[in-house]
Amino acid sequence: MSFPFEALAACRAELEAEASANDAQAVFPTHGLMRLRALGVFSAALPLAFGGCWPDAAPEAATGLLRLLRLVGQGSLALGRVVEGHVNALRLVSRYGSPAQCAAIAADVREGALLGVWVTDGAHPLQLEQTAQGLILRGQKAFASGAGHVTRALVTARTQAGTTVMLLVAVGQDCVIHPSIGGLSGMRGAGTGQCDFAGLSVAPDSLIGQAGDYLRQPEFSAGAWRTIAVALGGIERLTTVLREQLAARGRAQAPAQQARIGRALIAAQTALDWTRRAALVATVQDRYEAGDITATVNLARIAVERAGLEVIELLQRGLGLSAFIKTNVAERLTRDLATYLRQPAPDEALCEAAAWFTHRDLPPTEAFP
Ligand SMILES: Cc1cc2nc3c(=O)[nH]c(=O)nc-3n(C[C@H](O)[C@H](O)[C@H](O)COP(=O)(O)OP(=O)(O)OC[C@H]3O[C@@H](n4cnc5c(N)ncnc54)[C@H](O)[C@@H]3O)c2cc1C
Repeated sequence: MSFPFEALAACRAELEAEASANDAQAVFPTHGLMRLRALGVFSAALPLAFGGCWPDAAPEAATGLLRLLRLVGQGSLALGRVVEGHVNALRLVSRYGSPAQCAAIAADVREGALLGVWVTDGAHPLQLEQTAQGLILRGQKAFASGAGHVTRALVTARTQAGTTVMLLVAVGQDCVIHPSIGGLSGMRGAGTGQCDFAGLSVAPDSLIGQAGDYLRQPEFSAGAWRTIAVALGGIERLTTVLREQLAARGRAQAPAQQARIGRALIAAQTALDWTRRAALVATVQDRYEAGDITATVNLARIAVERAGLEVIELLQRGLGLSAFIKTNVAERLTRDLATYLRQPAPDEALCEAAAWFTHRDLPPTEAFP
């Protein structure tokens, strides 16, 4: 199946308009979600045999998914976060699940299931308990995106033996959803909430893979390439807004503003180059050492974060106070991007990658088309 990239590109303005309209009340973009579903966004990353768009572990899978995530991010970072979580769950099930679990999740997705990966614990970390009645989940997941809309969540839980396991659970009436963490200043449309599992009964076939699989490298770090592909879209959109608004106000010809436009374009292109490198290395894994994959994706994370922070600064300095007025889309886009860029453990990602590449060169990606 080929993916309709032009149609996705054409609906970016619609996604952006809904994100702006929903921002104040932190409303989830249900219309945009339906539009993306109709375009096949949620089934594109399925294995080819189950109706997906690209062959597993092939360069075209990297470049195709990168293009998709980037386009969604250009329209809405909040929806990008939701799509990225869905793809992440699919990837983890296809990597670690049994053939029967892979077939079942593919069928669910084709019927409209929305997946999420909820691994960040709340005040009471999620525990899996073996009781006389069977397996029970107890505890909370926080910063759970798509809460109230995700129908199946891949969660991590600690066992009584002290290991970490993954489970794919149906998010239904037995889970108490707090749909949004009200105080988040950006990404208010991502439905980032909390899910309380107060003794949810789970079947043994909800378990995905073996204990410890979630943290297994290089997959654990490699998956971050999809997160930065969405952020890249946000960076590109903000760069376009800077150019358009400076031109519209007759200020684009000033040498200092031209320098800002140039620096923003360089930052956006740098983010694209790093994301493409990370996507290829993380997808075509059999050509690379695990350490090279992990460290490349970690460097890409920091490069994209840096590029995003630079574009935010250039935009705010270049547009001045108008970039802080709520009716200017630049204000919301900046908040969303600044929030989205807060990903876990950036210091560790940079230092570990730097240590790895101190005595090695970056792996080549030039051989790919
Ligand atoms: C909009 C949004 C949606 C999200 N959706 C989901 C979701 O669906 N599912 C999910 O599981 N999670 C989700 N998250 C949570 C996300 O995955 C991360 O957990 C979160 O963004 C981490 O951000 P942080 O800045 O608090 O990270 P931290 O890792 O706490 O980093 C903050 C700073 O502390 C430093 N630091 C980290 N650890 C240490 C340490 N031990 N000692 C000293 N310094 C340290 C870091 O380097 C960094 O400088 C979401 C977050 C956001 C913002």
